[in-house]
Amino acid sequence: MSGIVVIFDFDKTIIDCDSDNFVVDELGATDLFNQLLPTMPWNSLMDRMMKELHSQGKTIEDIVEVLKRIPIHPRVVPAIKSAHALGCELRIVSDANLFFIETILEHLGIRDCFSEINTNPGFVDEEGRLRIFPFHDFTKCSHGCNLCPPNMCKGVVIERIQASLSKEGNKKIIYLGDGSGDYCPSLKLSEGDHVMPRKNFPLWDLIIRNPMLIKAEIHEWTDGEELEQILLHLVNTIGSTNNNNSAQLLSADCKLQTISAAAHETLPQVLSVTQ
Ligand SMILES: [Mg+2]
Ligand SMILES: [Zn+2]
Repeated sequence: MSGIVVIFDFDKTIIDCDSDNFVVDELGATDLFNQLLPTMPWNSLMDRMMKELHSQGKTIEDIVEVLKRIPIHPRVVPAIKSAHALGCELRIVSDANLFFIETILEHLGIRDCFSEINTNPGFVDEEGRLRIFPFHDFTKCSHGCNLCPPNMCKGVVIERIQASLSKEGNKKIIYLGDGSGDYCPSLKLSEGDHVMPRKNFPLWDLIIRNPMLIKAEIHEWTDGEELEQILLHLVNTIGSTNNNNSAQLLSADCKLQTISAAAHETLPQVLSVTQ
């Protein structure tokens, strides 16, 4: 094993859009969604939208057909398969829902690459309606984090993963994300970990505002092609450091980008991974 755990956000990280918005838009319910959005939390609204679509006669098969044509960059699936083949353990932490994520991953043929999917529960009820519930039941108890939406604090998930990894020796985390909900877990990463924020998206904006708050090394990416290059470069670099073997690097011209020239000066030296 490589000693690396790669944690992916889903929307706008693995796939190239927001799955909730895509399904609502493709099934023609955008106006109702926008009308109701100011009145309830996003996660509760998605459950409500599935009720509305069900009552309009839209079936689970209709939803599955939409999910099967979700946009994804052509290099993302190969990147995931390569990281898995190199021995990384892959997990997902997402504020979408389990039904959307599993349907898409199965369609792409990569469901088995992931050992864990942390997301909002989603299942089809006996009437054939998709139900979507919060990851944390905020009607009973708050997760207590004011950076995150009420239904899910990804930082709580990362802390649980870190606690379980600490029993397995010196494992490194690579976290990939784009959204503001990925900021809380990025703050929890340790020295020796890596965060890959998507450039010019909310997570990147939050990180570059004060990069010194992030203990992990920061590597920006813009699209699936860079995601693949940077992720596999990191996996090879960390893997070879872990094996006390520095000969395993990918090609030297591999485009490893750091956050920006200005921000970089305030960052700790890259690749100071020690055992
Ligand atoms: Mg996202
Ligand atoms: Zn949080």
